[in-house]
Amino acid sequence: MSSLSTPSPPEAGSSPGAKSQTPELPDADPEQVHRGIQAIAGLGPLAVNISIFVWFWGQWTKVLAVLAVAVVLTAANVWLLERLAKRVSREVVETVRMLLNVAGCTVSGHFTRWSPLVWVFIAYNLLWFHGLDRWVRPRVAVYLVLINALALWDGSAPVLALAFSLLGFFGYLLTERRDSLLRGALKKVLEQRARLEKAQEEMRRMHSRAIEQEKLSSLGMMAAGVAHEINNPMSFVASNAHQLLKDLQQEPTLPESLKEHRDEVLPATLEGIKRVNAIVADLRRFARGDPEAFVEYDLNAEVRMALRIAHSQLRHCQVESELGEVGPVVGRSRQIGQVLVNLLVNAGQATAERGVVRISTKQQGEWVRIEIRDTGTGMSPETLRNLFQPFFTTKPPGTGMGLGLAVVHGIVTSHGGRIAVESQVGKGTCFLLSLPRMPPEQPYAASAVEVHHS
Ligand code: ADP
Repeated sequence: MSSLSTPSPPEAGSSPGAKSQTPELPDADPEQVHRGIQAIAGLGPLAVNISIFVWFWGQWTKVLAVLAVAVVLTAANVWLLERLAKRVSREVVETVRMLLNVAGCTVSGHFTRWSPLVWVFIAYNLLWFHGLDRWVRPRVAVYLVLINALALWDGSAPVLALAFSLLGFFGYLLTERRDSLLRGALKKVLEQRARLEKAQEEMRRMHSRAIEQEKLSSLGMMAAGVAHEINNPMSFVASNAHQLLKDLQQEPTLPESLKEHRDEVLPATLEGIKRVNAIVADLRRFARGDPEAFVEYDLNAEVRMALRIAHSQLRHCQVESELGEVGPVVGRSRQIGQVLVNLLVNAGQATAERGVVRISTKQQGEWVRIEIRDTGTGMSPETLRNLFQPFFTTKPPGTGMGLGLAVVHGIVTSHGGRIAVESQVGKGTCFLLSLPRMPPEQPYAASAVEVHHS
């Protein structure tokens, strides 16, 4: 019977009421929950039915009535759960099942003269009500009132009605409380797990940034050493070559073979020396060895100048600028200018005809933000990983040296600033520089770079 047949177990997560209390709880698989408690749920009614059959053995009308109720209600319950549940809401199904249960218990109670064995099943049923849907409490009340009214009207002993109703009612309250406590504990565990996962992710990111920073600072030290070693011999190579050219130019009569040196070989050599000096200067900037002093400067004026210098690389695209009120900023203005030129040139080189390169500045508290966004090629995750390494380039030989962003990194870090890069292949790239309006005495040791690939 639903009176004496298997009650349907509560389906975790199937009740809108329960869901709204603990929205973060993952939906348990109702099938699994059902299977998990089905065995015990079925044993209760079976034990009660067998007890009734044994107790009333020989009183065949009673046995047959109870058996008939059990068979009819089991079939009705199966039909309700398997078929009707697909067409109507859970609330409707459970209300119909509750009414059937009342009817079954009343018939069984009537034929067994309201034996305690029938009453025990009424109390037992109440244990299963919690969690089915949000109308459980009203349904429990209706269930108890109906059963008690019918039982008392049909001649049941009031003491039995009172005793088993109390048992069922408090059993229901306990189940409900235990369930909500368990859900609360589970919710907390899930929240803690989510927090832990977030912290772990943050730690992983910080770790990889620290490794990146470590790599860049050792490269910086090496670059500073190399720059220093090259700089000294280069200065006398340059001065000797200049002197030689000057001497040759002052010589009125020169043999043909030396004329070629004066007009072609030495000017080309000096051009080469200039390029080597430029690379050495870049390496020194990357290594933060540039001795320029900190001064107060106008950031927007530097942006305008950088736009003029990078003009030839931006000619083919649409350039937009939005320069906000940033006030005076302290730093090495020439270096910041170089950062802007490097980023604008890269943006221009990555952007196709009629693409857009946009530069904007704004103030945020004690920081200024400079955004350089382009609608160019974007970067692959591989390129993003190596972006700030000296000599990393994807450009053809002769076009890129791979020092531009290494220099940008060195300068921004030496100003205590940060660089965030976002890029999407085929969509474009955005470099966001954050510079303190007043750089700290000792720039951050922490990583200045944050890279996102979308
Ligand atoms: P270079 O420009 O000499 O290659 P950089 O250090 O300035 O050296 O840049 C390194 C690499 O980063 C470039 O070769 C390019 O692949 C990539 N890159 C930099 N800026 C952009 C950008 N705005 N869009 C796409 N790729 C970029």
